[in-house]
Amino acid sequence: MEIQYIKSAEEFEQIKKENEFLVVDFFSEDCPPCEKLAPIYEKMATIFPTVKFTKIFRQGLRPLAELLGVSGSPTVVFCKSGAIQEERLSGEIKENDLVFILEKLSGASAEEIKTEDGVRKTDLCIIGNGPAGITAAIYAARYKVDQIMVGDLAGGLMTSSHKICNFPSQTEISGMELSQMMADQVNALEVPQINARISKVEKNSTGYLLETTNGDQIQTKTVLLTAGTKHRHLGLPNEEDLVGRGVSYCATCDGAFFNNKTVAVIGGSDTANTASLYLAQVANKVYQVYRKGALRGETAWIDQIKENNKIQVIYNTEVIGLSGENQLEGVVLSTPFEGNTVLKVDGAFVEIGSEPDLSLINQLGLATDEGNYVITAKDQTTNQSGVWAAGDITNGSNNFRQIITACSEGAIAAQNIFEYLQRKK
Ligand SMILES: Cc1cc2nc3c(=O)[nH]c(=O)nc-3n(C[C@H](O)[C@H](O)[C@H](O)COP(=O)(O)OP(=O)(O)OC[C@H]3O[C@@H](n4cnc5c(N)ncnc54)[C@H](O)[C@@H]3O)c2cc1C
Repeated sequence: MEIQYIKSAEEFEQIKKENEFLVVDFFSEDCPPCEKLAPIYEKMATIFPTVKFTKIFRQGLRPLAELLGVSGSPTVVFCKSGAIQEERLSGEIKENDLVFILEKLSGASAEEIKTEDGVRKTDLCIIGNGPAGITAAIYAARYKVDQIMVGDLAGGLMTSSHKICNFPSQTEISGMELSQMMADQVNALEVPQINARISKVEKNSTGYLLETTNGDQIQTKTVLLTAGTKHRHLGLPNEEDLVGRGVSYCATCDGAFFNNKTVAVIGGSDTANTASLYLAQVANKVYQVYRKGALRGETAWIDQIKENNKIQVIYNTEVIGLSGENQLEGVVLSTPFEGNTVLKVDGAFVEIGSEPDLSLINQLGLATDEGNYVITAKDQTTNQSGVWAAGDITNGSNNFRQIITACSEGAIAAQNIFEYLQRKK
């Protein structure tokens, strides 16, 4: 079913009247979670034919978004018999959560979408399509390795970087642009790809049977795990409730919603520093709250922060709470700032690093270090025969966690996998 783009509040009211079940995706441009949601949303439109699927460009219809209490992108709002429903989804939206609410809303059950070919057979399955996965796919394609790459965000984590100035050949480029260039290269090499995540892994006599979130099954002789890391959360009681309601993990995606407002950035690394600098271009005031006495990371960013009069760093302070019920009103500080323990802000950007997701690591039986990073040898092999790992997910050179190191490990892994497959022939 076609997804309709709503252009005015009047059109929205009309569609609301005409459709028993309506769903609206408020999206933004240059928003990685919005892009991640797009193919899932399209898939839902084919699965739930009785539901009207629409999209609204949030910045284009800001008064309507505000009226509906939508303050982050993407936010999916549901409507039944003309009434806006309490349930809504925002931030990193998972397919299962969307299916759950749509089934509840419409009373219909999601049809299973199955691949036409049944189980796909391949020599190499690359899990993840960030810089490590893409580089490995490029090298593997040139070695003519039979491969498939599975991932749900081409370019990975760098898509949320507004400015990259340390990737050779690019003096200054946005993460989205660099991602697109890498994706274009892998597409030009006609690497088979599935836009999904691997959700299940099973070891068998010929290698590994993998299952994607789309329901595809892949039987592969070798696996290269490049699934990267996920944003670390503060772990505060109401944090998840306030995601998309003032709390964000991506300044590039949500920064534009805080035009002329006051925001807090939590953290003191390069990611937090660049988030503050980006937000200072949009917001009136940026407070950067850091638990240590000095910012760390690239001196170039730290110098820019010091020179920017919109940014104020609050050192030796932790965020120990979030105030506000349905909308963030402030962050609670461990040490009072200017006599107050609650710092009033409209938005809080949590930039306190990231960590590997253990689900696939455990299913593959991979050995990890104390930080849950996959232990790899110089050739990117792991403790499991037939499984390699590369990029931010490893304990190797990527203690540095950069695009260039992820690419480097991806290239080394691909070369080693090629030799392994040659030996097995
Ligand atoms: C805001 C920000 C700014 C940054 N700026 C810079 C910079 O200026 N310079 C620099 O060099 N680095 C920068 N980095 C770091 C850089 O982005 C990472 O080091 C790099 O992206 C790591 O690449 P990767 O391929 O290992 O992992 P990722 O980029 O994290 O990619 C992993 C991929 O795997 C996918 N995936 C996860 N789970 C699964 C699954 N189960 N199945 C299938 N796929 C899965 C993800 O969707 C993603 O596409 C920045 C990072 C951030 C967040």
